[in-house]
Amino acid sequence: MSKPSSIQRLIVLLGDQLSPTNPILKKVDPKKDLLWMAEVWEESTHVLSSKSRVAFFLSAMRHFAQSLRDRKMPLLYHRIDEASESGSLGKALASDIQRLHPTQVVCLEPGEWRVKEAMEATCRKLGVALNWVEDPHFLTNRAFFETWASQRKEWRLEYFYREVRKAQKILIDSAGKPEGGKWNYDASNRGSFGKKGPQNLREPARFMPDAITEEVLQWVEGQCTDHPGSVEHFRWPVTREEALRALEDFINHRLGDFGTYQDAMWIHEPTLYHSRLSAAMNVKLLDPREVIQAVIRAYDQGAVSIEATEGFIRQIAGWREFVRHVYWQSMPGYLESNFLKAGQGLPDFYWDGNTPLSCLHHCVSETLHDGYAHHIQRLMVLGLYSLMLGVDPKQIHAWFLGVYVDAVEWVEAPNVLGMSQFADGGKMSSKPYIATGKYIKRMSNYCQTCPRDPDQATGEKACPFTTLYWDFLMQHEKRLRSNQRLQFQFKNLDRLDDSRRKAIREQAKKVRRNPGCQDGDSVKSQKEFFGN
Ligand code: FAD
Ligand code: SF4
Repeated sequence: MSKPSSIQRLIVLLGDQLSPTNPILKKVDPKKDLLWMAEVWEESTHVLSSKSRVAFFLSAMRHFAQSLRDRKMPLLYHRIDEASESGSLGKALASDIQRLHPTQVVCLEPGEWRVKEAMEATCRKLGVALNWVEDPHFLTNRAFFETWASQRKEWRLEYFYREVRKAQKILIDSAGKPEGGKWNYDASNRGSFGKKGPQNLREPARFMPDAITEEVLQWVEGQCTDHPGSVEHFRWPVTREEALRALEDFINHRLGDFGTYQDAMWIHEPTLYHSRLSAAMNVKLLDPREVIQAVIRAYDQGAVSIEATEGFIRQIAGWREFVRHVYWQSMPGYLESNFLKAGQGLPDFYWDGNTPLSCLHHCVSETLHDGYAHHIQRLMVLGLYSLMLGVDPKQIHAWFLGVYVDAVEWVEAPNVLGMSQFADGGKMSSKPYIATGKYIKRMSNYCQTCPRDPDQATGEKACPFTTLYWDFLMQHEKRLRSNQRLQFQFKNLDRLDDSRRKAIREQAKKVRRNPGCQDGDSVKSQKEFFGN
């Protein structure tokens, strides 16, 4: 595009700021303002990103850019395949500031500390004002959290969530009480499927690539050859219209069973009754308020129960808001957290799914296949194994940030370092999420096709989750014994005699030497698994 004569505001739109209602788009003066977007390699390589994550961001950005052009907005857009500076956001921005001499750079608050630092450093160096605008695509702001947090010793989701519900009048009845009489229906949200498995599942809405997406997919296939995963089956919503259709599809076909089965898992069914809306919400194609309103409408029409409604809303009005504040309140030191002093390397099978351990094989393979796994697969299989194995938190953080289409650091880091690895020592969760293989057996059918036995902690058939569970308690006994929420677990540990403890420690050493248990047990390749 030709150089504007006098740019006053260079308005930066980041890859996760693709909202048509972005407040800084409201008063754009084409004579003085220029919108600026850039696809840069650094965003796909600072952690090795899966092909589907790279494709999702590039495709959603290009579609958004097209919608801005359709609205006749003045836009300077750098494609990753252009010859100009596309290595990092800071460099690309610096090069245009030097060329265009804007009087100020304007941007919504970013979702990642690293990006904020890079933009601030660039603008400081070049002597241009940088104006951050509060991101309105969340229900609560920093001041809300700080007021709430100032009255407590500990940050706990449940109490924060109640304040959000009250402040936003979400599921509050006319007497000011929680709808249905209870704040939380968590106890009704732990169902498993039994032998029959999930019934009447429908394929979630999937979106065929259009010309813009096709071009992105071809570029990813050609240029991201070393990146994990595949884009062969890329069907993510990448426009506002598609995101709205995905929301409608969830409300009509899955919300009703979301509550009951939100913790359940089943082979070849990663979605089950989950919404698959996180990626669209995280890049702001959907606003959390409209998602909540759509769910409440379904409840008001009698289409879904209070258990399903509250169970789902808790994730968005509760967890999603809470983790964002934990992130911004704890950065920049949060990424260095390592309360349990874990230092094991991330096992290779996290990059290809090549392990005979059924739960890990399926969860990794599905993740790489589609850039998606649901919460319990992430927490109670992939994260749990890394926690009990003692993987260096930085390595598992980089993996989670790289592989999922919905991964943005403000939401990923507290979930991984806090909730799943307990690396923050309890800021996010009151206790580490630990479990034996019996939990996975109860909540899924993975163990039915596994060469190992979840009931055994030692011996040839030992399930490594079960082994590592006991070993974890022994290893961290001094640090965690006083945790009130682990009293039951430590009481059970106390029942093990010395020889049993020794045998478990020996078995755990074996698992750490060979965490994928690739010892001749049958291994299904990813290709065999997906049948193509
Ligand atoms: P649903 O199960 O349908 O839930 C509805 C929505 O609630 C989600 O779309 C999401 O916006 C929100 N939500 C649910 N749980 C959480 C949570 N714990 N924290 C924040 N929001 C939540 N979520 C991400 O968006 N990006 C990530 O990178 C990410 N990494 C995670 C890593 C680990 C180890 C764990 C345990 C969780 C992670 N989560 C992450 C949270 C959650 O697992 C995903 O939001 C969810 O699985 C996305 O699928 P869905 O849209 O089908 O969610
Ligand atoms: Fe996973 Fe253990 Fe069950 Fe195998 S036996 S699927 S490793 S929990």
